[in-house]
Amino acid sequence: MTMRKFQMPYAVTLLLLIAVPDGSVRAGGEGRPVLSLVPAPASVTELTGKFVIGTGTSIAVDQGAPAFRDVARFLAARLRESTGYPIPLDTASRAIVNDRITFTTASVAGGGEGYGLTVSGGGILITAEAPAGAFYAMQTLFQLLPPELEYDSPVQGASWTVPCVTIRDAPRFSWRGMHLDVGRHFFGKKFVEEYIDLLSRYKFNVFHWHLTEDQGWRIEIKKYPRLTTVGSWRKETLGDGQPHGGFYAQDDVREVVAYARARFITIVPEIEMPGHSMAALAAYPELSCTGGPFDVQTKWRVFDDVYCAGNDKTFEFLEDVLTEVMELFPGRYIHIGGDECPKTRWKACPKCQARIKAEGLANEHELQSYFIRRIERFLNAHGRKLVGWDEILEGGLAPNATVMSWRGIDGGIAAATSGHDVVMTPTSNCYFDYTQGVTGEPWAVGTYLPLEKVYAYEPVPPGLAPDQARHILGAQGNVWTEYIPGPPQAEYMAFPRACAMSEVVWTPPGKKDFRDFSARMAGQYDRFVARGVNARIPPPTGFEGNALFTRDTTVSILSQVPGSVMRYTLDGTEPTPASPEVSGPLALGASTTVRARSFLPSGGTSVVPFGVFSRIDPDVNGVAYAIVRRRAPSDTLRGVTFMMSLDGLPVPADSSTVTLSALVDLPAQGVYTFTIAQGDSVSLTVDGYSPVNNRAPDWWDIPTARFVLGKGEHRLSVSIAAATGRPGGLGLQMEGPGLDLRAIPASILRRTAR
Ligand SMILES: [Zn+2]
Repeated sequence: MTMRKFQMPYAVTLLLLIAVPDGSVRAGGEGRPVLSLVPAPASVTELTGKFVIGTGTSIAVDQGAPAFRDVARFLAARLRESTGYPIPLDTASRAIVNDRITFTTASVAGGGEGYGLTVSGGGILITAEAPAGAFYAMQTLFQLLPPELEYDSPVQGASWTVPCVTIRDAPRFSWRGMHLDVGRHFFGKKFVEEYIDLLSRYKFNVFHWHLTEDQGWRIEIKKYPRLTTVGSWRKETLGDGQPHGGFYAQDDVREVVAYARARFITIVPEIEMPGHSMAALAAYPELSCTGGPFDVQTKWRVFDDVYCAGNDKTFEFLEDVLTEVMELFPGRYIHIGGDECPKTRWKACPKCQARIKAEGLANEHELQSYFIRRIERFLNAHGRKLVGWDEILEGGLAPNATVMSWRGIDGGIAAATSGHDVVMTPTSNCYFDYTQGVTGEPWAVGTYLPLEKVYAYEPVPPGLAPDQARHILGAQGNVWTEYIPGPPQAEYMAFPRACAMSEVVWTPPGKKDFRDFSARMAGQYDRFVARGVNARIPPPTGFEGNALFTRDTTVSILSQVPGSVMRYTLDGTEPTPASPEVSGPLALGASTTVRARSFLPSGGTSVVPFGVFSRIDPDVNGVAYAIVRRRAPSDTLRGVTFMMSLDGLPVPADSSTVTLSALVDLPAQGVYTFTIAQGDSVSLTVDGYSPVNNRAPDWWDIPTARFVLGKGEHRLSVSIAAATGRPGGLGLQMEGPGLDLRAIPASILRRTAR
C-alpha cells in the first residue's frame, strides 16, 4: 500500500479557461452563524436561546446510568481545564435540571453509538444507550462551545455559551478508521495520543497503528529484544546521513491503548508479513530465505527479502510476536499486512519449494495464501480476527479474513461478494500522504487528493446486493510517512482530510454537501489554530497552475473558508497581512505570477498557491511537437503546443516517442535547474548538450541537471519514449533567477528565433 510511481508535486496544468471549482464558497453567511458540527449529525433542530456554562454549572449522571460516569468525568475535566470553573459531578433525576449537564440512559436510534443531545436555556440533557453514544454527544457539545475550549489552561473573559438545539445522531458505519505509519518515520507516544484525541473529536472509532516496516520495527517484543535494539534504528534516510529510529516500550503501548479506550477508539495494530519485514530480518536474518545479513532499510521501495515461508521457525517467531501483541491490544482485529510481497526469494528457496510440494500448492501465490491461512488459524484460535491488505485475496483468501481494499475498489467488491468483511481505503480517495493542492504545497507524494475528493467518497461500491453491501464495514484514511518526517507535517496531511473522511463514514449520505461542509469547517479551523494543530487551512483557489492568454484577461480568486480574508501579490513575494486584499476579479495585461493566501480571524494562514499567467503571441510562442509511433514510424504526427508538456497532445495508445522542442527565452543570466519526473525514458537537450538521460530511475530519484545559461534564447528539446502508450504527463520543471521550480512559462517558449 505504499509504492506509487513517483511524480513531482502536481504542478503542470494547462488551463486555457479557468473554471470555477465547485468547492469554492462565498465568505460570510446569511443571518445566524453556521453550527460548526463535523461530522454533520443525522438530525439537527436549531432553537432560539442559549445555555451558558458558568461557575455554578454542574454535571450529573442519572442513577440508572452509572456506566456513563467515566464520560461525565471526562467532560468535567475538559471543561475545568479551559473554563477554570469547579464543575462538580453528582447524581440526578432524568430531566433537565437548572444549570446542569445531565447524562441519562434511553433507547436511541443507532444503538450503542447513537445519542440525543438537547440544549435548553436551563440545562443540557444527553441521552444514550451506551457510554460510546454519551461520549459522541459530549464531542458534539464540545463543537457547540467556542474555540477557546481548545486551550488547556483557563481562558479569562471567554463566554461559554451553547446554542439551544436538539440533535439526534448515530453513525452510518461501524468501522470509522484513521491510520498512521510509524515505521517510515517514528512518532513518539505523546504525538500518537494527540492524534488519537483529534480522531476522537471527529468520532472515529478505529486507529490503525502501522507498527512494523522495512525501515523500522517500533514495538517492544520481550522474547525478541533484537527487534528493537537492532530493528528500530536505521543508519540514515535516503542518504541524509542522519540515524533515525525509536520504538514503543510495552508500557508505552499499554498507556496508549488505555488512552484510546477512554475515547472509544479501538487500536488495530499492524505487524507486517510476509513482506515489508526487512527491519525484523536485520535483527533475525535466519528467518529469511537466504540467511542475510541485512540492514534496516534506508530507502522507500519493495524489497525482495521477506520471511521464509518454508521455515517453521518463521511461524514460531510470528506466533510468539503475535502472542505478545494480543496481550497488549485487547481489540478483536489484528492486521498482518500481507501486501507487496515479492515471490523472488521463495522461487529460489529450497525450503519454500519443499513447502509448496508438501502442501500440494500450485505456486508461490498459493504459498502466500498458505502463510496467511496459517497465521489466521493461530489468531482465530485466540479469539481474534485477521485483517490484511487486498493482496491476501491472491492465491485464495483465508476463510475468516477481513480485507482492506486499497488498490482501488475491486478487492473490496471481490471480498464482499464472497461473503468477507471489507474496509474500503482505496488510494483514489483515502491516501492522505498524497498532495492536497496544485501549487504551493510542501513536499509530498505527487498524486493529487484534494479535500473535496475525499469528501465525495462513497464506501459502498455500486452494484453490490444488500446482503453483500452489509460486508462493507466502513472506510479509513491512511497516513503513510515516507515524506512526513514529524508531527507538524503529519497534522498538515491528516487534517482537514480526516474531517472529510469522518463525514464519509458517519453522516447519512443524503445529508452530505461539500459547500455546507466547507462552511461548517470554518469553525473547525479556528479550533485547530487554538489548539496549535498544524492543519491545512484551505488557500484561495481558482487561479492555480498555468494559464495562457492572448489579450488582457481577468482572474477570479475564490475563497474556500467563509470569513477569511484573501490577500495577493503579483511581484513574486509571499502575501503578508499588508498585501492588498482580493476584492473582485484581478485584471491582468502582462505575463505575471499571481500568489494568494487566506488569513483567518483566529490568526491562521494558508499556504500560498500560485498561478502562472502567460501572455502569448500564437505567431511567435509555442513548442513544436513530433509523435513517432513505433509501429508506424512514417506516420509521424506534428504540430504546435504551448507548454513543454504532453497534456492535450494526441499521443496514441501504442508505444511512441514524443519530441518537444522550442527556444526558451531566459530573462537573466544565472544557474538554471531542470528536473524531470517521469518513469518512462526521457532525455533533455539544452543547446545541443544532453545531461539528463533518465532510464528507469529509482522512483524516489529525480533526474536533475544544472546549467549556467546566459540571458536570451536557448534551444530546448525533450524526447520521451512512452513505452506504455500512457505517458502520464511530463514533469519537466525549471528553476532559475526569479523563477520558482515549476513548469516553464509559455510566454518564454518561442517557436522561432527573435
Ligand atoms: Zn524460503
